[in-house]
Formats: sequence, C-alpha cells, structure tokens
Amino acid sequence: MPTEMNYVKTGKGIVDDEAVFELLQNRTADTAAVREVLSKAMELKGLDLHDVPVLARISDPDLLGELFSTAKKVKEMIYGKRLVIFAPLYISNLCSNECLYCAFRARNKAVKRRALTQEEIAREVINLVEQGHKRILLVAGEAYPKEGFSYILKSIETIYRTKSGPGEIRRLNANIAPLAIEEFKQLKAAHIGTYQLFQETYHRETYRKVHTGGKKADYDWRITAMDRAMEATIDDVGIGVLFGLFDWRFEILALMQHIRHLEKRFGVGCHTISVPRLEPASGSYVAEHPPYPVSDVDFRKIVAILRLAVPYTGIIMSTRETPEMRRETFALGVSQISAGSRTNPGGYSKDEDAFESSQFSLGDHRPLDEVLRDVAELGYIPSFCTACYRLGRTGRDFMDLAKPGEIKNHCDPNALSTFEEFLLDYATPETRRLGEETIEKTLAAMDDVQAKRSRTLLTKIKSGKRDVFC
Ligand code: SAM
Ligand code: SF4
Repeated sequence: MPTEMNYVKTGKGIVDDEAVFELLQNRTADTAAVREVLSKAMELKGLDLHDVPVLARISDPDLLGELFSTAKKVKEMIYGKRLVIFAPLYISNLCSNECLYCAFRARNKAVKRRALTQEEIAREVINLVEQGHKRILLVAGEAYPKEGFSYILKSIETIYRTKSGPGEIRRLNANIAPLAIEEFKQLKAAHIGTYQLFQETYHRETYRKVHTGGKKADYDWRITAMDRAMEATIDDVGIGVLFGLFDWRFEILALMQHIRHLEKRFGVGCHTISVPRLEPASGSYVAEHPPYPVSDVDFRKIVAILRLAVPYTGIIMSTRETPEMRRETFALGVSQISAGSRTNPGGYSKDEDAFESSQFSLGDHRPLDEVLRDVAELGYIPSFCTACYRLGRTGRDFMDLAKPGEIKNHCDPNALSTFEEFLLDYATPETRRLGEETIEKTLAAMDDVQAKRSRTLLTKIKSGKRDVFC
C-alpha cells in the first residue's frame, strides 16, 4: 500500500477532540494559576497543552496586561526587533473545491477565473522585485491548467529565473493544495522554502459543514499533508487556522496537538504558524458572517498565547488585518508579515486589488515602502533574509541553532544587511533616512559579536555587493 494511504488512516490520531474539550472544561484562570504559567513561559521552553486554557480564559484586564507584557518579553528575547517581510503571489484562482468562505470556490460565478501564463508570472515577479521584495509566498487554488501539477513546478522555475537589475526572488514558499509524497518530492527539488497549508478548522464537524465539495472535503487527506511533506524531506512546514470558523480556544489546542504529533514523528514541529481571520470574500455568506467571530482582544490573545506556547516557531500576520492590528501584534509575537499584497492573480502588474477577482478583501493596502517606513519608525528591522534556507539551516538544524539563542548572531546581522539593500536600491528618500537611523540605533544596542558581523556585511552592501549573509 502506498505510504500516503497509511497516513490517511492515521489522520484521526493527530487531534484528539475529546481531550481538547476536556482540557477546556477543566481549567480555571485564577491569578495564581495564570502567573504560574506566565513564569513558566519565561523559561522559553514553551507550554504544555494544559497551560493553554489557563491563559485562554483570562478576562481580567490586569492579567491580560501581564499576558501581553510576557509575550512581548519572550518575543524580544528570541526575535529581537526583526520582522521578516514577504509578498504573496497568486498565480491562479482556478479551483475545484467548495470552501464556503472563499471567493475562489468552484461554483462562485462572481469571480473572474484565470491562471497566469509564465510570461504573466514573470511580469508579476518583476513588479515585486522592483518594489524590493526577495521572498514570495506562491498561492494557488486547487485546480491547475491543462499541464496539471507541472504548472506549479514551471511557475516556480519562472519565479526564480526572473531578475530585474539587482532584484531577484531568493526564497519561495508555497501555499498550495495537499500533495502526494511523490509530488512533494518534486516540490522540494524545485527548491521551495516552507510548504504552507492551513487546516482551516481542526473541528471535524465544522470542517465538514464548510467544505462541501471537491478533494478538500477530505479532512484526513488535509491533516496528514504535513506528514507527507516531511516524509518527502520538506522540513520547513507552516500550519494555520482560519479563525472565525469554530471556537478559537479549541483551535489553538488542536493546533498544538498537531505540532506535538509532528515533533514526535519527525523530531521537529512546524516552522511557522499563520493566524488568518475570516475576511469578507466576494459571493461568500460565511466570510461576511463568521460562525465564531474572533474579537480584536481575543485575536491579540491568540498571538500572545501562541508566542508563549511555541516560542521558536514563527508567527505570520498577513495584510488581511488593518495596519493598527498589525502594529499591535508585532509586539506580541508576530515575526513575519506580508506587505504590499494583492490576492488576485495579475494584481501586481495591473496595480489593482479588484474585489471580484480577489480571494478576500485586505485590511492593509499600503505599498511596501510605506509599510517598511512604518515598521522602522516603530523600531523594528524589516528583514529580507533568506540565509538559513540557502545554507541548509532548516528543520531540526534550524531549531538546534535557535534554541540556545545562537541563531540571533546570524539573523540580526542578516536583517540589517538585507534592509540596507532595500534602502539603497528601492526606498524613497524619507524611508531611507528613517531606515538608516534605525540601523544605527540597532547597531549601537548590539553586543560586540553581532555588531562586528553586522558592520562587515553592511560595508560590503555599501560598497556595491549584494546578497551577502552569514
Ligand atoms: N487553495 C489552497 C488551500 O485552500 O489550501 C491554498 C491557497 S488558499 C488560496 C490560502 C488560504 O486562504 C486558505 O487556506 C484559507 O485559510 C485562506 N482564506 C480563504 N478564504 C478566506 C477568507 N474569506 N478570509 C481569510 N482567509 C481566507
Ligand atoms: Fe479553493 Fe483554497 Fe479557496 Fe478552498 S480556500 S476554494 S481550496 S482556493
């Protein structure tokens, strides 16, 4: 029997619904219990499943403040002031599934369908690299043009091959439908960075209700996708929940069970967690009326709890959220953000985010330069670093460097040098001025090893070299 068939059968063991509900019922959130969990989180070893409901139940404003300030400390201890920047690239909105929350679902007649040609993809890439992007998240619906899955492989090749002046894409992550092991191997051979896939909801009954047709209706095929990806030696995987479909407390516990399962099987959990919240989507009642809406306060709680529960796992925030919410969550634990995004295929070349061909509506419409100026003004260092993936520091090797704190000696200098590249090659004068100030302040606050490494890289960039890293 092919290996993937075995995983379909074992899908049920990954999330234990009963155990999750029991954990959610049993815990209290008195002050002493909350403080005990928060002081455990400061050891940077993460949290156990039974700790999470204690934090999820906090409603007292003072305790909430303590949760947020602990998350901020943990985030700064591990990630410093870095924020990794990327842009999604939607290459196709063809889809054979019926996800009731998504504009791309097969029966939605309101959406204009298109799969970009390789020439159109190259045009999109030129547009992105000319803004300064270096990292792309390739996104597609679950139906490919005539050539089938090789459309994806060809598109990846086009993206890596397309250059403009000093600009190029150096890391491509992919958010595409679950694959069989053989296809994952081809994806790995095409040099993807992270394979990203959201379970949407870990609650089977809800999953069944909102996925009414197509291959995605199979919960088990989806939840076992990361097992197949890792089996195919893709060792950076990114998971996520579409918040608003079911109770967020259940979802984060189930997500932690998913991570524990991967850790047990492969020695490493996921590289990133994404936290999309349902946004309005053309032709979708569910998207406009989330069954379990997540309030802004709860959304901040989700980010803070995840930061404490899995401190070394990146948290990704997209432009679904408003600039204000994005700013607040940087401090609470977000480590990667998209910027200047379009969610309609061809949207960068046409400079439009037409609602009728987009996947969902965006909360942050600002161009990359403006987002980076804002980020720098807040004291963060935007990073386009792609060093780890290119030096093979992925999966377990990455975690082995991250956990003793050694990774900072690479990440911080690389963040500064890639930001400097952006400032010299693409920034507006105002952003460059502000950015240079932020770089100087950051250098002044660094320890000697980091500052020396950073200055070496910055000198190379200023003398005209590009793509230098340590
Ligand atoms: N088609 C593939 C899939 O479904 O996994 C990959 C790409 S899909 C375009 C990327 C993600 O967009 C989905 O996993 C879902 O979480 C998110 N999404 C869909 N509709 C959304 C909405 N209305 N608001 C926010 N996110 C949405
Ligand atoms: Fe298709 Fe993905 Fe949208 Fe579902 S979420 S309809 S699979 S593009």
